[in-house]
Amino acid sequence: MLTLFNRRIGKRTLRELAWELYRGGAYRPPRSELELAQLVQIQRRISGGVPVPKMPYAPGNRKVGRIWTFDLPPVLTCPYATFCGRPGSAGLYRGRGLVCYDINIARYNPLHLLREYINFIHVVREGYSWLRDWTRFVVDYRGARIIRFHVGGDLFSYWYWGYLKRLASDFPHVTFYLYTRSFPIVAASPERPHNLVVLMSLDGANYKAYEKYGAYFDHITYLAAGEDARGQIPAIDALAKWAAQNGKRLIIFLEHRRLPQLRQALEKYSQYICPNELGVNTTCERCRRCFAPPRDRHFTA
Ligand code: SF4
Repeated sequence: MLTLFNRRIGKRTLRELAWELYRGGAYRPPRSELELAQLVQIQRRISGGVPVPKMPYAPGNRKVGRIWTFDLPPVLTCPYATFCGRPGSAGLYRGRGLVCYDINIARYNPLHLLREYINFIHVVREGYSWLRDWTRFVVDYRGARIIRFHVGGDLFSYWYWGYLKRLASDFPHVTFYLYTRSFPIVAASPERPHNLVVLMSLDGANYKAYEKYGAYFDHITYLAAGEDARGQIPAIDALAKWAAQNGKRLIIFLEHRRLPQLRQALEKYSQYICPNELGVNTTCERCRRCFAPPRDRHFTA
């Protein structure tokens, strides 16, 4: 994964270009559309005309609808990655290769990884005010009402988790949501504003963590992946039962490379599977299953 940062974009590596853009002030939060246009000029000058992202946030797409996303580099910011991003203990997973959706996007789309790396540099170097001011821009000037964190990346530290909680309290009319494998970070200080919805990302390697940490999350998700779907059914049964008993939703995602086989093997569990994975013509904005909070929540800040 780290070798992807050394890929060339124009005359420089992706890593060099991200740092030059940072040092040149190309992503200072704008306070108007005019200031954004000025930033784009700075970005063009520094990149020598090579296309670079205009903003840290990305607008929605056909799958999610009008949901804005803020991403970080996968693996680098995923301290609790399982077989999704790192080789090693795979539990019930039988398969080869990394299944992280975002690593696969980053492989084919250097611009996507560049945006993620630029975001990481700025969050670490510039701190909370940088994130807050860009959020204000997309909320005030682009009408963002639902923001998803980390299509790529994850909660990588306790202080960064604190940033997201502050952000949700500074923008109470915006819904923020994220999926995470960084269970201990959330559990260490689970109180949060009602408009920050946090889902557990479980899979065949870490699914037992619901017993210890599940209570701190709004909903739980399970990534069904690998050759042996049937071997994962007892785990899925246990998760579905636990979710029902605890007033949370279980949402199942399917490894995209094996979509037809997994759909067939898990047909009995269709009610839990994300409708997008089943080929239903919808968007996250319409579906809302992931980010509608449960009715009674115990960890409101
Ligand atoms: S369950 Fe609904 S909200 Fe969640 S990812 Fe699938 S379509 Fe989006």
